[in-house]
Amino acid sequence: MEYTTNRPLAWIDAELDTLDRQGLRRRLLTRSSVQAARVTIDGRELLNFGSNDYLGLAADPRLGSAVANAVAKEGWGSGASPLISGHASLHAELERRLAELEGTEAALLFPSGFAANVGTIAALVGQGDAVFTDRKNHASLLDGCRLSRADVRVYPHGDWQRLDDLLARTGHRHRRRLIVTDSLFSMDGDLAPLAELAQLAARHEAMLMIDEAHATGVFGASGRGVAEHLGVHDGVHVRVGTLSKALGCIGGFVAGSRSLIEWLVNRARPYVFSTAAPAAMAAAALAALDIVAREPERRRTLLAQAETLRNELAADGWNVGRSASQIVPLIVGEPVWAVELSARLRDRGIFAPAIRPPTVPDGEACLRISLTAGHAPEMIAALRFALRELKS
Ligand SMILES: *Cc1c(COP(=O)(O)O)cnc(C)c1O
Repeated sequence: MEYTTNRPLAWIDAELDTLDRQGLRRRLLTRSSVQAARVTIDGRELLNFGSNDYLGLAADPRLGSAVANAVAKEGWGSGASPLISGHASLHAELERRLAELEGTEAALLFPSGFAANVGTIAALVGQGDAVFTDRKNHASLLDGCRLSRADVRVYPHGDWQRLDDLLARTGHRHRRRLIVTDSLFSMDGDLAPLAELAQLAARHEAMLMIDEAHATGVFGASGRGVAEHLGVHDGVHVRVGTLSKALGCIGGFVAGSRSLIEWLVNRARPYVFSTAAPAAMAAAALAALDIVAREPERRRTLLAQAETLRNELAADGWNVGRSASQIVPLIVGEPVWAVELSARLRDRGIFAPAIRPPTVPDGEACLRISLTAGHAPEMIAALRFALRELKS
């Protein structure tokens, strides 16, 4: 009887049917094992090529014991937003360590990378300003652009010459200008031209913000990200990273000058109006940063194995696009093909998710393979052989 009150929501079922017909309906899977290279998903044990746990730290016992110890000492919940009473000494210590990793004066924790992006962009630009965003930037960057009410100019993926034109043409029309980009693109696995972007930002007196979500802990000699990998040390004003991927935790952060961080403390709404993460979460992230510093072979092995896999898959005739990282897309075009390929792999005991619009542009549906440091060479070989069988 109660369900009759849902009539005004009947349109939702119609829309879901449409998604079904287009091969675009997404369904939740449930994992019943720990997050690792082998997982149990919907009751089946599968080789896992569908996680962002790039360094294999999500289930590392050292993170678990850091959490347990911190909870024993400090309890669990933080009880308030950071500006009220939620900011604990473990958060402050983690912020210092993140600033050290990033080589900046300061850093600030956010509830998630998504919140960090949305809150930071909206705090940096507003009406009368302009924000320039790569067409393939992560949804959180685009949402931040829209929310800011600045003029949003989308430039073609990686096309810094076009961006140069756009910046030149819109010269003095705006009060402030901000360029935002992923450093490592989350679906294509390719790198942004950060050196060129830093030069443009300097020449056009614009701010440059880079999102290292997939690169934190993975790229660069010390694990700082793609900027370090490409030798771009100056000219990046705002660095965003996440604790949620390679660091195996949850949360996002922004690193930059002391004044930038002070401004965000005052003006980034997801920071101001969201409860601080448990202090124990900061303890886990500190343990993860220790591992990043002490075990560089994790990221080296990961990137070396990824390079080998990319070359092999390309040799087998797959379109891996411009991937230069641990994220290897097999671009198949139509959503139904991506779904089919994913299902056939699952029949062979391998999990790799189909990625469809709106996550990728129309016509670029792909299977997104992500490697982690937890993958043994035999596991990667099994993936390659299964893909070979499906190709022939
Ligand atoms: C995953 C991701 C985010 C969001 O980070 P979370 O910590 O998972 O919220 C932001 N930017 C990019 C490029 C991402 O891939």
